[in-house]
Amino acid sequence: MIPITKPALDEEEVLAASETILSGWVTQGPRVAQFERAFADYAGARYACAVSNCTAALQLALHAIGVGPGDEVITVSHSFIATANAIVHCGATPIFIDIEPATYNMNPTLLEAAITGRTKAILPVHQIGLPADLKVILEIARRYSLPVIEDAACAIGSQVRIDGKWEMIGQPQGAVACFSFHPRKVITTGEGGMITTNDPELDRQFRLLRQHAMSVSDTKRHSSKHVVFESYLQPAFNCRMTDIQAAIGSVQLGKLPAKLACRRTLAERYDNAFAEISGLETPQIPEWARPNYQSYALRVTDDFSVSRDQLMQQLLDRGISTRRGIMNAHQEPAYRNLHCGALPESELARDSVVLLPLYETLTCEQQDQVIAAVVESAGAPVCLAAATKNVVSH
Ligand SMILES: *Cc1c(COP(=O)(O)O)cnc(C)c1O
Repeated sequence: MIPITKPALDEEEVLAASETILSGWVTQGPRVAQFERAFADYAGARYACAVSNCTAALQLALHAIGVGPGDEVITVSHSFIATANAIVHCGATPIFIDIEPATYNMNPTLLEAAITGRTKAILPVHQIGLPADLKVILEIARRYSLPVIEDAACAIGSQVRIDGKWEMIGQPQGAVACFSFHPRKVITTGEGGMITTNDPELDRQFRLLRQHAMSVSDTKRHSSKHVVFESYLQPAFNCRMTDIQAAIGSVQLGKLPAKLACRRTLAERYDNAFAEISGLETPQIPEWARPNYQSYALRVTDDFSVSRDQLMQQLLDRGISTRRGIMNAHQEPAYRNLHCGALPESELARDSVVLLPLYETLTCEQQDQVIAAVVESAGAPVCLAAATKNVVSH
């Protein structure tokens, strides 16, 4: 069986976790601080605040920016449901706008018309690691003095070119960027998240909100030579990452450049293999974007020999696991009662895209099996000439 993804963890992560366990400090402590520093340096951000997952990261970001009941946050329905949930749990209303069919990301030409007097923030998603059109989104946001919170759950290591300069996602380009370390993402800590910003006041708030708004942190109290009493400044949350997770995260982050190189090579092999097949559309990457290929999205059009669902079944019959395209929150029971306009491109993308297996330990032989199965479903003769450029073994 070839799975859709497989987290790459080895003895190095085991050692980091076991050292932490034996150190006697297992929850948010020195290893969280180290991971935050390394992550901020990698992303080029002034501050990085580790939290329990990306859903919590989004919620803290919205809270810190002051999003609350009666406010509207403009985002996409075409995302994992956590994006919409984070907005609703702040008491605000998500305003869904449609995506660009080529990139599956927020269509910035629809953004301005969605802004009202109640709009409090704009929340674009860098879907499956492909950066959203930040240059245009940020220009509009600036004109209306609206903060941009980036759902960068999948986008660690992705880059965007703004005014001729390549920038890392998470720098951040907007006010805040939120990342996930779920095993489905490019680096993992089991569960985990990170919030980056360049604003010291926002970072201070994230640190308070994630730990019950406690005025003195555990680590400060622990190392204090005097008796200190903390106070609790506002009703807040517990969104701490453990030191065990952070130790794993630091190891994973060190491996990120190799992971990215591997994912990009595998994606290119898929691109080459499917380029000439009628009815298949490989990812269209704008010249200003460098994705990390958290997922490989293949669009199956009416010109293909079988439907998207039939292709998924035929692959499953051959022992190859796939997933449908990204979900739409507005099509789920949870958001049935939310009033929103027509989102035809989002709906089409959910129903015509298939995500193929892509992970660093996927061998060329396994990838060739996936390619051969897709080619077979296309009714084309199996010819892998275009794909046989070998990936350096990893
Ligand atoms: C995975 C994901 C999330 C949620 O991340 P968790 O760490 O699981 O909370 C949010 N948004 C997007 C776009 C995601 O892909």
